[in-house]
Amino acid sequence: MDGAPSSGHCYDSAAMSAEDPPAAGDETTVRTKQNFIQAIVQQDIAAGKNDGKLVTRFPPEPNGYLHVGHAKAICLNFGLAEEFGGRCNLRFDDTNPAKEEQEYVDSIQSDIAWLGFDWGGQELYASNYFEQLYAMAEQLIGKGVAYVCDLSPEQTREYRGTVTKVGTDSPFRDRTVEENLDYFRRMRAGEFEDGARTLRAKIDMASPNMNMRDPVMYRILRATHHRTGDTWCVYPMYDFAHGQSDAIEGVSHSLCTLEFENHRPLYDWFLDHLDLRARPEQTEFARLNLTYTITSKRKLLELVEGRHVSGWDDPRMPTIQGLRRRGYTPESVREFCSRIGVARFNSTVDMVQLENALRDDLNQRAERRMAVLRPLKVVIENYPEDKLEEREAINNPEDESAGTRSIPLTREIYIERDDFREDAPRKYFRLAPDRDVRLRYGYVIHCNEVVKDERGEVTELRCTYLPETADGQPPEDGRKVKGIIHWVSAAHGVTAEVRLYDHLFSTPHPGDVPEGGDCKDNLNPSSLEVLQGCRLERGLADAKPGDRYQFERLGYFSVDPIDSRPDSLVFNRAVSLRDSWAKIEKKGSKK
Ligand code: ATP
Ligand code: MG
Repeated sequence: MDGAPSSGHCYDSAAMSAEDPPAAGDETTVRTKQNFIQAIVQQDIAAGKNDGKLVTRFPPEPNGYLHVGHAKAICLNFGLAEEFGGRCNLRFDDTNPAKEEQEYVDSIQSDIAWLGFDWGGQELYASNYFEQLYAMAEQLIGKGVAYVCDLSPEQTREYRGTVTKVGTDSPFRDRTVEENLDYFRRMRAGEFEDGARTLRAKIDMASPNMNMRDPVMYRILRATHHRTGDTWCVYPMYDFAHGQSDAIEGVSHSLCTLEFENHRPLYDWFLDHLDLRARPEQTEFARLNLTYTITSKRKLLELVEGRHVSGWDDPRMPTIQGLRRRGYTPESVREFCSRIGVARFNSTVDMVQLENALRDDLNQRAERRMAVLRPLKVVIENYPEDKLEEREAINNPEDESAGTRSIPLTREIYIERDDFREDAPRKYFRLAPDRDVRLRYGYVIHCNEVVKDERGEVTELRCTYLPETADGQPPEDGRKVKGIIHWVSAAHGVTAEVRLYDHLFSTPHPGDVPEGGDCKDNLNPSSLEVLQGCRLERGLADAKPGDRYQFERLGYFSVDPIDSRPDSLVFNRAVSLRDSWAKIEKKGSKK
């Protein structure tokens, strides 16, 4: 486990990272128990339900990019299929052509593949079944349990009643089967205006469940569909399309989020009234909510359209595209989903848990490098100008096979501005006038002089090094040096832009806004900080888009896949460090 407190031989905690997350939520939950859905599936298979086969599906509506909440649903559905030797379909729920686009279809497939799941080659679409769904609607009309209603959308709402007031039957409820069939066919043929008529299920206008008050099955809508073009001007509603698509595909377990619990009676009602071979079962689980962000496509779209972020893939976005660009690994997102588990009750997960999953993954895998984000020049006066030492540095203390590299030490180096204080308190273990500090993989240096410009800004430090401290030895005169800082050779470094991110919202529950409020009011104005002129260790000149590193003491960083160029590198900080210098000291330094 990370997170051991620093020993006396290291930085004070402020030196590590100002953003280090609080201890709450820091624990790693190891889940070995089955969740309630795994238990249901296991029982059903044992009982020979659905011929003992498991078929799940992930049914995104292609009206936006996937977010981390969808990752939970993806891991659940595809994960069960993997675990129980079943199949998981990818089915686009494309029943609302007004809001759906091919761009979203493409990005959704790309994100699921990135997470490492496979939908068996062919993606499916609810629109594949438009003809079958239409036939099912006629079947329900034939059974006298569906009717064409001429009420306007406003009237339909009025007649529906409220939670405290029962609804009123539509005056069109008792049309004959022949009349209904005739009207429904003419709806399809395009004889009526958009919104002029609907097809409704004849259930119960007094039902305490509003979804059962003669719900609309079909509406007239003239919009070009991204797949069926202008073939249709009537489209099925979600509730009518969903369960029937499940049945057509032979889905055994239809898993959805809790807000669909009240739709389950309707889901079952349609299946009960149709002659279908398969009988899928809907089970609900809690949505993922995360602190300091929102998981609603509609609200995320508002952020994109209002240019509050640079796009769906802005690294601050909780979208999978955003996480990818920021430097998240698919393994860390899957591990996060496994740690949070699946429950029946809504709750909000601490963002720290997502970050920790990434830290734990990259701690094992990311090579360490030195980088100085806010450079301050140090001239080591007793180090000859033409001298260059190659110092051996460990690539990954967690993985011996990662080996070592050499880093050049020269007379002029850069250190972090934060690692020097003119008026340092006694317990400050980094550099200060007339004090010492050790350079990581290098010598102890002593600060002799502080050079300032005409405005009084510190521009340079003049130091001397203690040659006898080359390999971790203490100074000969016995003085104690507690701090170790990172550095980069001025002559051999690479210049780069580095982008630091903070939470997109400044409040933990940005979606909780008072009446008339807007979650955008809670946006964090300092969620992005762009640093130019950062100095990175020599070898990073070859970093490729998507490469991930730990910059010692600063966090995990990745090369931005969009904006970075070989001659002008851009790095994103994926996450700050949680672990302490103590750990690096213990495992990393053999000196
Ligand atoms: P949003 O509210 O963001 O628009 P949605 O539920 O409308 O989400 P869909 O495209 O319909 O988005 O979602 C596809 C699947 O992902 C559904 O089964 C849905 O239940 C699930 N899902 C969506 N959001 C979450 C979430 N936050 N946590 C878990 N599952 C989710
Ligand atoms: Mg939805």
